[in-house]
Amino acid sequence: MSVTHNIEKVFHATAASLGIAIGPALVIRELHKSYAEPEDKVIPPEDSDCEVERFNVALDQARDELEELRVRIQGVLEEREANVFDAHLMIVDDKMLMDEVEDMIRRHHHCAEYSFFKVVDRYVTAISVMPDPYIKERAADIKDVASRVLGLMLNRQGVALDKLTEKSIVIAHDLSPSATATLDREKVLAFVIETGSNTSHTAILARSMQIPAIVGAKGVMQDVENGDLLIVDGFVGTVIVLPEGDTRKLYEAKATREEKFYVDLMRESKLRSETTDGFAVQLAANLESLDEVESAIKFGMYGVGLFRTEYMYMTPGKRPGEEELFNTFRKLIAEINGKPVVIRTLDIGGDKLADNLGVINETNPFLGLRAIRLCLKQERQLLREQIRAILRASAYGNLKIMFPMVSCSEEIVELKSIMQECMGQLDREGRNFNKNIEVGIMIETPAAVAVADVLAEMVDFFSIGTNDLVQYTSAIDRDNEAVAYLYRPEHPAILKMINQVMEAARNKGIWVSVCGEMAGDPRYTPLLVGLGVHEFSMNSVAIGAIRRIIRKLSLHEAEEVAKRAMACRTSDDALNESLQLLAKISPDITELAFKGI
Ligand code: PEP
Ligand code: MG
Repeated sequence: MSVTHNIEKVFHATAASLGIAIGPALVIRELHKSYAEPEDKVIPPEDSDCEVERFNVALDQARDELEELRVRIQGVLEEREANVFDAHLMIVDDKMLMDEVEDMIRRHHHCAEYSFFKVVDRYVTAISVMPDPYIKERAADIKDVASRVLGLMLNRQGVALDKLTEKSIVIAHDLSPSATATLDREKVLAFVIETGSNTSHTAILARSMQIPAIVGAKGVMQDVENGDLLIVDGFVGTVIVLPEGDTRKLYEAKATREEKFYVDLMRESKLRSETTDGFAVQLAANLESLDEVESAIKFGMYGVGLFRTEYMYMTPGKRPGEEELFNTFRKLIAEINGKPVVIRTLDIGGDKLADNLGVINETNPFLGLRAIRLCLKQERQLLREQIRAILRASAYGNLKIMFPMVSCSEEIVELKSIMQECMGQLDREGRNFNKNIEVGIMIETPAAVAVADVLAEMVDFFSIGTNDLVQYTSAIDRDNEAVAYLYRPEHPAILKMINQVMEAARNKGIWVSVCGEMAGDPRYTPLLVGLGVHEFSMNSVAIGAIRRIIRKLSLHEAEEVAKRAMACRTSDDALNESLQLLAKISPDITELAFKGI
């Protein structure tokens, strides 16, 4: 929605990552269909293999997309028109053209996108001057396919977002999690996208990377031009285009208040996260890469409750092997000084795609071959590499292994048997590892909740993935801004499910973490404490605020609130129970996080 005040325009959308940013807009119009010469970058000879691989990955993906399009339009278009895609497919399979590109990369050291463009453009120029109109038209086909391949190589944005030259606020229709992961934090002051919701992985990454972000800002692309001055308020989800002088001053003051608030919280980072009546909660960090460790330590994390390994596979052409995984986990253990670390095996699929893993083109990807399903069905070797690397690293610190997306006990049996095989191999190879490594699962499907009593007998801990649990329970695509209003972790159904999981865990004596975004959202802290959750794992920026709240809560009071919330008839009523207590014990946090200026 947009409102116009003179020239200043204000957009309200979903706040996805806290912080205030003021700076010029960089509007990313999709260049997927544009045919333009990319920047010529020189590639060191030792990177040639990688560059050729990047090119091949883009070609493979373009081929997959074209094949899918071909299938989709069959029966919709005339056969003759559908044949266009066959012509396009022939272009991505043209051996001569591909060899020329490879030659330009290897012998002349140009980057993949530039080499590809130059080779293709020679063909286009030659064909365009042909007298035969049919042949002439083929130039358009070649350009079309070339734009697709170029778009894929440039992350579809046509701008290398990891190499911006000026500090900017990025405005785009969409940003994939992999494109977000490569954003240059020094240069991207904030981003605003038209799609997505608060728990889409793009939003989660923004929080981890500490980049203020707003999602679901429909129509923002229309009203912002490159270079327009913008203010992004990631606390309340406001974007102000061309702010007037007074507005700018107000937000500069808010940014200063925000900074002071976090500096104050930082002073409390060594204090115990314990309620006034002695219930201790471990505050852990969710990490996507080693780059985040330093700030997680600064914010006072107790350990790593969730290390999302999938981001190691998202660089095109990159597929880390066992050694690279092992080295990363060892480094992580070393950097956090013996604190506990939970490594989650690959959770790719859904909205997180890796070009080099075969998980594209599903009709319902969130219900498809995601996480352990993909690993057990078609990436067993990869799963073994991950398990072996985690086991080997377990010899060096307090490492635990966790499996995502479990929906039945059979999966745990299968996963444990693969673990046993890996342990046997490592034994035979004479390698050290922790034979009693703790094994946990994510509880993020309603089926896992319903049989939590059975699953609790099979593992050492649970980690409740509320992001997915809400998605699968309330049947809300967590990426879809149109149904974001129904996405309510405070829905009494979800609270009752968490309670059921806690009861099952208590009966079997295992511990429980919550690692969904709910754990780092102050609005829910009284509820989760009241339900007796042992560990909260979250983006590290949130740790300070959650610690402050926990230290002001009494377990007894929180339990009462949780009980009342579970009995509420509506999500609003349940949330109000929590907010009332929060406002009483910690008005400062309510003030900063949930109110406009
Ligand atoms: C979750 O589902 O809550 C979770 C933490 O996993 P992810 O967000 O990576 O799906
Ligand atoms: Mg999940």
